[in-house]
Amino acid sequence: MTSNTFISVAEALQRIRGALQAISGIERRHLRDAWHRVLAEPVSSPLNVPGYVNSAMDGYAINSASLRQDQALTVIGQALAGIPFDGQLQPGQALRIMTGAMLPEGADTVIMQEDVQREGDQIRIQGQHQAGANVRQIGEDIAAGAVVLAAGKILGAAELGLLASLGIAEVSVRRRLRVASFSTGDELCSIGQPLQAGQIYDSNRYALYGLLREMGVEHIDMGVIRDDRQAIRQAFQDAASIADVVITSGGVSVGDADFVKQTIDELGQVDFWKIRMKPGKPLAFGRLGNAVFFGLPGNPVSSMATFYQIVLPSLRHLQGQAWQAPLGLLVRCSTALKKSPGRADYQRGILEMDAQGELSVRSTGHQGSHILSSMSQANCFIVLPDEAGNTAAGEMVMVQPFPLL
Ligand code: AMP
Ligand code: MG
Repeated sequence: MTSNTFISVAEALQRIRGALQAISGIERRHLRDAWHRVLAEPVSSPLNVPGYVNSAMDGYAINSASLRQDQALTVIGQALAGIPFDGQLQPGQALRIMTGAMLPEGADTVIMQEDVQREGDQIRIQGQHQAGANVRQIGEDIAAGAVVLAAGKILGAAELGLLASLGIAEVSVRRRLRVASFSTGDELCSIGQPLQAGQIYDSNRYALYGLLREMGVEHIDMGVIRDDRQAIRQAFQDAASIADVVITSGGVSVGDADFVKQTIDELGQVDFWKIRMKPGKPLAFGRLGNAVFFGLPGNPVSSMATFYQIVLPSLRHLQGQAWQAPLGLLVRCSTALKKSPGRADYQRGILEMDAQGELSVRSTGHQGSHILSSMSQANCFIVLPDEAGNTAAGEMVMVQPFPLL
């Protein structure tokens, strides 16, 4: 199933989305352990929020009938948040009330304290006020039974707070995705070992470790596998038997030692795609037994760029998250950018804001696919479409900020 045609990033994503289904497997988790997990079922509110009529201001609770009378009102007591007033408000009376405190029976309006003149236990209201002002009604934030979180939502800080506000202590989340990975290449030396002539340190292993940690998947790191047909075959079989997803780096081009391509062609159903993106042209995608396989290119920037653009949305889809296009911002580019038409560029950029709050982006400089420091300097990709040529300084470009990808 080898295809030799070039496809766009969008087309690759569309094919992957069509081919992959979210993993099954649901776990009940306490809120704290549900942080950064994917919600498996929609959550409906068991409560009205607010659950009782309460004040939105520090002031005086009155009956709106008292608004029409230019009379002094007698303050008969107070209501604090958590300490309601035990009694009923009669015409001509007011209650000192604090934000969040329950309105007593007979009251329907709160006058903020700045609009009241008080002498002893008498108040007079200044100015015009509307009946029902400064009162939070039952269910005005969330009505009991309403869906507050959809399935597929990642549970972040706001979601934990929201669930807690409803008294929900446990939720159903998808089980974690299990991802096995290994690097391939005879030139690769592991950190902690002395470098021999012609060797380089295996950086993809650690970049991938970081990317997968950030995603919160269960990661099985299988280290470096030599460019040896038998060793690679064994590694693939081991990985596919324990993981939902197998990710490798290197060996997917057409060099003499690119055994990944050869081996996996024999073992699974895999497409070798030439993606119209730079960096990162070769990418393998397919199945190895029950596992999904991604073969990333070996060049460090290419492997990170293809991870962000293609693997990350695919993993999100597999772990049950709703499909979402990355956020793109149109900003002015302060540097000239070199590009030849034909494939989309994902150049590394630094997005910054000037004193006036205006955003602009500049290039990190050398854009070679081996310049890993560019990924560290950058905080965004500058995405230049297939057909674009060089960009002059001052032109508008599309950027994708890293943390939001
Ligand atoms: P390959 O895709 O195997 O042909 O590798 C392309 C380039 O990426 C070569 O220069 C490799 O040395 C380099 N490379 C491959 N794997 C890694 C890795 N794990 N860490 C750093 N560089 C790598
Ligand atoms: Mg290699």
